[in-house]
Amino acid sequence: MSTLVFLEHHEGELQKDSLGVLGKAAQLGGEVSALIAGSGVERLASQAGRFGAAKVYVADDPALEAPLPQPRVDVSADLVRRYGFDTVLFGATVLTADVAAGLAARLDAGLNWDLVDLTQENGKLVGKRPALDDTVYVDVGWKSEPRLALIRTGTFEPVESGGDAEVEQAEVQLEEFSTQAKMIEQAHEESEGPSIEDADVIVAGGRGLGGPENFALVEELAKALGGAVAATRAVVDAGWYPYAAQVGQTGKTVSPKLYIALGISGAIQHKVGMQGSGTIVAINKDANAPIFDFADLGVVGDLAQIAPKLTELLKARS
Ligand SMILES: Cc1cc2nc3c(=O)[nH]c(=O)nc-3n(C[C@H](O)[C@H](O)[C@H](O)COP(=O)(O)OP(=O)(O)OC[C@H]3O[C@@H](n4cnc5c(N)ncnc54)[C@H](O)[C@@H]3O)c2cc1C
Repeated sequence: MSTLVFLEHHEGELQKDSLGVLGKAAQLGGEVSALIAGSGVERLASQAGRFGAAKVYVADDPALEAPLPQPRVDVSADLVRRYGFDTVLFGATVLTADVAAGLAARLDAGLNWDLVDLTQENGKLVGKRPALDDTVYVDVGWKSEPRLALIRTGTFEPVESGGDAEVEQAEVQLEEFSTQAKMIEQAHEESEGPSIEDADVIVAGGRGLGGPENFALVEELAKALGGAVAATRAVVDAGWYPYAAQVGQTGKTVSPKLYIALGISGAIQHKVGMQGSGTIVAINKDANAPIFDFADLGVVGDLAQIAPKLTELLKARS
């Protein structure tokens, strides 16, 4: 197998998910290379070596400064054609989903997305992905090479394997049509505390909060625990909280040590995004809520009464 892993980076750091995918590729064996595309990104190459890449191609060019997909498709397609990679892996993000789709079209290659595992079976690469609203897992394969795959967020933890990678500059030759889109503006949401992908503690709020103003209860509790705030799709769809905080099938997959669910029913589509949490605590006024079937600790009661008391106790302790 000869694998190219597309490494996503943000604010001068390689993304944790990309590094997890790189580590998985190294475990699967064969030759593993990585591609880092951007402007001023050369110094990130050594990090990729530590996480399993034997070779790192660096496409460092001002034309790759903006996080636009088509120039990245050009660079990736050129590498695949030049060096004959049979597998190209991506940790799923908004940008990599576009790059992977563009690359699949450009190379007329098969793309399996939303994978939650990759294995070798009788010398063949097999992907695993959830289906039927995440109620079953199905094995998926590819009919041709190169095989392209997008791996679901939070699937593989990065594992340091300690090696030094050979670094090579990748040629940046862009198609005219790839340079037609321009980034007009980029805005970053200001946030305090850890992100939900990295947090050891997550406090999540659902429709049981009753209204957006009551997210203050979730935020206060998260703050007292040094944790991050998450939300269900119901409240994101209602505009109570931003999509970036959504956990579940169509949101993020998280695995904190502690997950506290406030006013969340525990629908399967939410469960699949947080079932990997160490300890799950649920506060819900309905004793028959499905979340109690998989919570480690359940409190039947009104969150408006319980959450502030919990926050108060935690503050008093610290
Ligand atoms: C294709 C598809 C994808 C989806 N993707 C996602 C996803 O990514 N993430 C996600 O979360 N959902 C997703 N959903 C939606 C999912 O099916 C549920 O509708 C959603 O998770 C419910 O959110 P909730 O628990 O906040 O609301 P509800 O199901 O309305 O639950 C609210 C809970 O709060 C409790 N409650 C009410 N008042 C109080 C109170 N005062 N104190 C304590 N408890 C109280 C109630 O007893 C109830 O159990 C998806 C659905 C589909 C079909």
